[in-house]
Amino acid sequence: MGGYGSGRPGWRPKAEQFRSLDVNRLRKAGLLKSGYSCGWRWTVDGEKVASISIRAEVGRLVLVYRIRSNGSDWEEVEEPIPLTETDCPYGGTRPWFRCPAVRNGRYCGRRVGKLFLGQKYFVCRHCLGLAYTSQSEEPMHRHNRRANKIRTALGGEPGTASMPPPKPKGMHWRTYWRKIDAIDTADAAGDMAFANWVYRRFPGAKLDDL
Ligand SMILES: [Zn+2]
Repeated sequence: MGGYGSGRPGWRPKAEQFRSLDVNRLRKAGLLKSGYSCGWRWTVDGEKVASISIRAEVGRLVLVYRIRSNGSDWEEVEEPIPLTETDCPYGGTRPWFRCPAVRNGRYCGRRVGKLFLGQKYFVCRHCLGLAYTSQSEEPMHRHNRRANKIRTALGGEPGTASMPPPKPKGMHWRTYWRKIDAIDTADAAGDMAFANWVYRRFPGAKLDDL
């Protein structure tokens, strides 16, 4: 796509190594088109820990997977993930998952590019973080806060799912692009911090094609 937020250094090769789904990667592979289906399996140290099939329907993906945690029996899970799109500032559209997690009776519904396998379901990083850590001072949160501070100072909304804020009246374009770069840098640092955190949590996890 080559648009805003693509090509972040350091992030690219890692996303598939733990149990995650990247909506842009799935779209590039043509897997978001209604009617397509495919499958993967994940292994840890050569042992299968999870397998998944993905079926695209209109407006949603249906994940069917078998999962086993901590030596318990295999369990089959069917999880529909709503899909949505936003317009890109430079044309085209960008796909998003809506996080299907329900916690304490509340639906998350956040617009996210990636979902991560928690103990049983694929959820957004916020829900995964809520499930696994109460340390709000994790580096990823620090980076996110820095990015959001610049976003809101420019009159935008917080969160990586938001469009970059437009240039405020009277601000020089150079200043504006410097701030947009700073948002992107902080987001990328947050992604890296998050990836490192996931590696610590799922040591040795890797993804094979089925
Ligand atoms: Zn969520």
